[in-house]
Amino acid sequence: MALQVDRTPLDPIAVCAWPGGNSAAAAALRPLIEEDAPGTGLEPDRLAEHLIALARRYGTEPFTPLESARRGLGLDRATFARVLAVFHRTPALRTAVERRPAGMYWTNTILPLERRGVLDAAVRGEPAFPYSVGLYPGPSCMFRCHFCVRVTGARYQQSALTDGNAMFASLIDRMPTDNPHALYLSGGLEPLTNPGTGDLVRRAAARGFKLSLYTNSFALTRQTLDRQPGLWDLYALRTSLYGLSEDDYVATTTKKGAFQRVKDNLTRFQALRREREAPVRLGLNYIILPGRAGRLTGLADYFADLNDAAPDRPVDFLTLREDYSGRPDGKLAPEERVELEHGLAAFEERIRTRAPSLHVDYGYALQSLRLGVDAELPRIRPETMRPTAHPQVAVQVDLLGDVYLYREAGFPGLQGAERYVAGRLTTGTELEEVVRRFVTEGRQVAPRPGEEYFLDGFDQTVTARLNQMETDIADGWAEHRGFLR
Ligand code: SF4
Repeated sequence: MALQVDRTPLDPIAVCAWPGGNSAAAAALRPLIEEDAPGTGLEPDRLAEHLIALARRYGTEPFTPLESARRGLGLDRATFARVLAVFHRTPALRTAVERRPAGMYWTNTILPLERRGVLDAAVRGEPAFPYSVGLYPGPSCMFRCHFCVRVTGARYQQSALTDGNAMFASLIDRMPTDNPHALYLSGGLEPLTNPGTGDLVRRAAARGFKLSLYTNSFALTRQTLDRQPGLWDLYALRTSLYGLSEDDYVATTTKKGAFQRVKDNLTRFQALRREREAPVRLGLNYIILPGRAGRLTGLADYFADLNDAAPDRPVDFLTLREDYSGRPDGKLAPEERVELEHGLAAFEERIRTRAPSLHVDYGYALQSLRLGVDAELPRIRPETMRPTAHPQVAVQVDLLGDVYLYREAGFPGLQGAERYVAGRLTTGTELEEVVRRFVTEGRQVAPRPGEEYFLDGFDQTVTARLNQMETDIADGWAEHRGFLR
């Protein structure tokens, strides 16, 4: 079964980064660069080839250092600089890079951070208020997922809730309001195990923040919604779905009865959301675990079931990912690839009929698979982790006020994670000050083997980007560092 990928609009330049997009793109590009060609010392056809090769390279390998790209084109430095200048004068080429297969790295993560200047601040070692602040309010979690780094039995004391929630409230009150998406609620542990989460949402929403809550939705009961009405002020509720049956859930989370309970909770949420005309967006996150690709049509049916509870207010989105973690080189084996391709094709067909309005975010790896391109995910190792991390870009704060440098480090009792605490928020110490001190005092954390797992996908992307920028600057390409910005 063939995957159907939407490739509109079919502007030949915009799709030149796609497989087989070269010749039509070169013909379309030529009139746009004809006048520039003499200044580069290249024939127009040759210049067009180089520009398309660059669009293709950065559209599939966004973290390529400029020197590597230059060597790939076989150009001397002066000519390469002139080719780069033409590239940046030609908006259609920028669009080509942004429009797949790795375009989402650029549009979702890198370019918004570039616009805020926080990547430059991180590279220069200058303090800046973090672009993204994760609040981790959960004192515990009812699941024991086999892939989760949380330490079994480790939790925050209930007595930490009062002070912790007061600390979060103070942080919310002092956050700059120029970025409505600066705050989100996640974990660490499960945020809905904190009875004050709804109040924190309401407080932040009143200041104009559009909060997403990442939850397993086991505790999203009617009682929770009645006791925490502030949850209706969320911008988005994102539920991690851990399977499509009781057996899946038990195998993944070890919690019996969780599959039906979560589904009932989401179904009720759907109906109440419609009844209250609450604007909160509802979405699911689903990771395709090895061996489960063949059951993806069941995922489409799951959405259809939820939509039956509110036909005129269907579930808004799905983020679908594939679990690469078990492969030593991060690549799929051929038989896994075929299984995944078939599973995705069947899923897409079922979604078209059963939940046609659903927005599906496939992520870079699955999107590349749909386009028939080999995905190369950034894989940060201890030797490529940055001892200075990137608190100008993102930090996470737990119930004790500890400010973590990476998103997967904020678990109580996690060995080594305490090394990645930049400081603690207290009555007299604000987030801005914690970050400023960490940066200006030149604090560094020397990474140890295994600590790369403290970085989630976002942290890995940011680290890869900062390393790329530093390499470009060291290679004498400061003016063009990072290619697009
Ligand atoms: S992954 Fe999330 S839901 Fe699962 S055990 Fe860890 S914190 Fe709990």
